[in-house]
Amino acid sequence: MNIAFIGLGNMGGPMAANLTRAGHSVTGFDPDAPAPEGVTMADSAAAAATGAEVVITMLPNGAILRQVAGEVIPAMPPGAVLLDCSTVDVESARAVADMAAAHDLLALDAPVSGGIGGAAAGTLTFMVGGSEAALAIAAPLLDVMGGRTVHCGPSGNGQAAKICNNMILGATMVATCEAFALADKLGLDRQAMYDVASTSSGQSWSLTTYCPAPGVGPTAPSDNDYKPGFAADLMLKDLGLSQQAAEAVDADTPMGAEALRQYRAFVETEDGAGRDFSAMLPRFAARSRG
Ligand code: NAD
Repeated sequence: MNIAFIGLGNMGGPMAANLTRAGHSVTGFDPDAPAPEGVTMADSAAAAATGAEVVITMLPNGAILRQVAGEVIPAMPPGAVLLDCSTVDVESARAVADMAAAHDLLALDAPVSGGIGGAAAGTLTFMVGGSEAALAIAAPLLDVMGGRTVHCGPSGNGQAAKICNNMILGATMVATCEAFALADKLGLDRQAMYDVASTSSGQSWSLTTYCPAPGVGPTAPSDNDYKPGFAADLMLKDLGLSQQAAEAVDADTPMGAEALRQYRAFVETEDGAGRDFSAMLPRFAARSRG
């Protein structure tokens, strides 16, 4: 396939390289990132998108996505697919899908989980919103870049799934970290705490796959001095998106709101910026009730 790839950063770069390795022709655009392996760089997003059957975007946020969509959509041939893999707000995803439809184009929102490791290994999970027809065209590309695709419904539903999942993740990570810090102060050995909670009702992905306590459970960023992994800044972004969505539809999400408050304080006023999101554990361990 002829593919344009806009946004070749930490995630987009390795995703685009996997597409070229699978034999696809990829033209890329990014004002800052170097050309990934096999990708021909264009001078603008519109130039990259001209004649592309699928235009993939992997961008920082919804405002940039809307701007890039405004540039690429007029350049895309009718029937082509705009496949956005960024994590953005639901409203932007739906607005971009409407813009695409007005130009006889198809659109999918397909945010990912799996992080930089999953992008490099081609094992991402895609959460997809949009039509069956668009997904049928994009599916072979999703199969190259990822290991699993879940069709979540119409446009915007991929982003809805992503932010709801990450709201659970943020809340369970805060809860897991504060529980370990409490266990420390109660004199409970971290391994014992892990052995009990990982096989009891306190179990979660935050504990058993991504344990915030170094030396306990499977290898995770906590074992690498909390280098990301999944940065606290990105968790803060995703928790902001879930609260924005909750406000838009009048949903009551107190745990998500509290997780946002905790990550905002950690990233903006403490030393959380640039650290893994599980570095909440040393944060709580160093704190008292105040
Ligand atoms: P990144 O900052 O490394 O890459 C974003 C790229 O977009 C940059 O290279 C930037 O130069 C480029 N860009 C910005 N404006 C542009 C424009 N107008 N035209 C073309 N390119 C432009 O970020 P990332 O880590 O690759 O994340 C990308 C998206 O994936 C984000 O929405 C993020 O939330 C999501 N995501 C990231 C991870 C992760 O672990 N990094 C995991 C899941 C989802």
